[in-house]
Amino acid sequence: MERRQKKMLGFNIDLFSIDEALEYSKFLIENSKGSHIVTINPEMIQYAKGHAEFAKILHEAELVIPDGTGIKLGLLVNGINVHRIAGIEFAKKLMQISADMSLPVALVGAKQEILEKAKQNLQSEMPDLNIVYAHNGYFTNNEEIYNELTQKKPSILFVATGSPKQEEFIYGLKDILPSTLMIGIGGSFDVWSGVVKRAPKIWQRTGLEWLYRTITQPERFKRIFPTLPIFVYNVIIERLIKKEV
Ligand code: UDP
Repeated sequence: MERRQKKMLGFNIDLFSIDEALEYSKFLIENSKGSHIVTINPEMIQYAKGHAEFAKILHEAELVIPDGTGIKLGLLVNGINVHRIAGIEFAKKLMQISADMSLPVALVGAKQEILEKAKQNLQSEMPDLNIVYAHNGYFTNNEEIYNELTQKKPSILFVATGSPKQEEFIYGLKDILPSTLMIGIGGSFDVWSGVVKRAPKIWQRTGLEWLYRTITQPERFKRIFPTLPIFVYNVIIERLIKKEV
């Protein structure tokens, strides 16, 4: 399967639909191609601009799915209309695939009680899900977790420690677990535990989930502003400059 990508502000974004992205992930799993799936948003691109190591991580990812509404907007500015792929939905579907294929999965992230609740809920929703390892996201020594994961050899690893921590953690594992598919999924365990609610469907459908999250968790405001408007402004400028050339 060929990757179709668009470069925006120096970073490639895959233009797959959610079904195509899942099919591509399945292809990676079936061929034991250890890979890093990034669910990209404008904050990550802005952060990468000032952090070369993080930029390298994004450049080397095997699949970059357009998670943030800001990314969808940026692509629209470039004349490309894609459906936003919410990382949490994508990850849940990936989990269903691993249950169907009887593949071992590992979870890393969130506070201990959240992780336990999320694990319980996932397990009762998908009885065939084979969770071989789960660790909370509050650790200082990556090596310890890397060693434990090496012993468990999961086919898919879900890391929910927020960005950039989760991407850096995954990047450090790529050589150690060369056959594992790994994805960073932010606050997904909080939602799966039932402790945090996702935005009602109407907010999701209208692409305003970010606004709902900002209203219900005001501490997120500083993440979105001024990053989101700056990102969209930069994309527009890039587009105008390219048109002139
Ligand atoms: N988290 C963690 N370890 C840390 C910092 C955060 O496991 O050192 C967890 C936190 O408990 C939460 C998630 O990472 O479950 C971050 O969620 P956030 O809402 O920031 O991610 P987003 O969905 O916005 O990417």
